Amino acid sequence: MDEIKLSDDVFEQIKDFEYWRLTEEQKSLIDKLITDKELKKRYKIDGLCKNCKQPNTGHDWCQPCISNHFQQNFKNWTSGNHDVDAFIQKAQLKTEDINHTIEWIEYDKFEDVEYLAKGGFGITFKAVWKDGPWFNSQLKRKGETKVALKRLHNSQDITADFLKEVESNILVYLTCWTVRCFGITKDPKTNNFIMVMELINDPLKRPNANELRKLFDDLLVNRHNNNCIINKQIKEADEINKKSSSSSSTAQSPLSSTSTLQYMTHPQAVYTSRILDFKNLPEPKNADSNDDLLGIEYSESIKVDFTKLNINSENCN
Ligand SMILES: [Zn+2]
Repeated sequence: MDEIKLSDDVFEQIKDFEYWRLTEEQKSLIDKLITDKELKKRYKIDGLCKNCKQPNTGHDWCQPCISNHFQQNFKNWTSGNHDVDAFIQKAQLKTEDINHTIEWIEYDKFEDVEYLAKGGFGITFKAVWKDGPWFNSQLKRKGETKVALKRLHNSQDITADFLKEVESNILVYLTCWTVRCFGITKDPKTNNFIMVMELINDPLKRPNANELRKLFDDLLVNRHNNNCIINKQIKEADEINKKSSSSSSTAQSPLSSTSTLQYMTHPQAVYTSRILDFKNLPEPKNADSNDDLLGIEYSESIKVDFTKLNINSENCN
């Protein structure tokens, strides 16, 4: 079956509309011109791609056009490893937004590489990425950006494991709560592949446990006050939902199973944790890659015989 597309004629008639605030007249024209439900929905949520003249597939994002652009560019880069190339290519072809887009980055694009931490998985360095990541669908770059370079032990030999790790990092990226993976590079000296990750800035400026506790106490005490930030946010969210459900052509309750809740996140509404500044901690037990797992002494808390636990009991007491 042929893919349903908007005709050039329809595109010409609607290309100058502001899809996020259509007039009543424009709305009824859209309803008349775009009969396909899916295309209409995409248009109303994300507008038009001026390049292919079809509705976008995401916010400021036209997947067919972006995929096409990436594909044209495949010949211009290689990691030197077939599996890594294929992995990045596949991820680029199916990427749904800029935050899930990865790329191959030459190691010489990084400077000021400094050791940061060591763990069971490998070693993390911090560095400055001169070009910085793409930040929009025109693939504009952010410029100089501090990043974390996460090097897995012996990743030159365990490409499959390394790629699995990269994949789970891309999949898990949902919001600013998680750390974004920008791509892959390779240390030319050791031939180890390296994940290029977002570096959470200024860990020492984040609230400490006491400050967080005070914050939560304040929220608890003020929860009945209408001006409390949580109540304000609930009110705002309700209003956004009311607007989005009344502006939708098929009026739905915000909680009906087919509608999507749309919230705007306040850029400063997210609090992140801070590294605890304990002195003289011993090296992590798994820091040494040669650890013999059988020789590791486990803590008391996990020396439990699970077969003796009555976990199927109906009384949870
Ligand atoms: Zn397009």
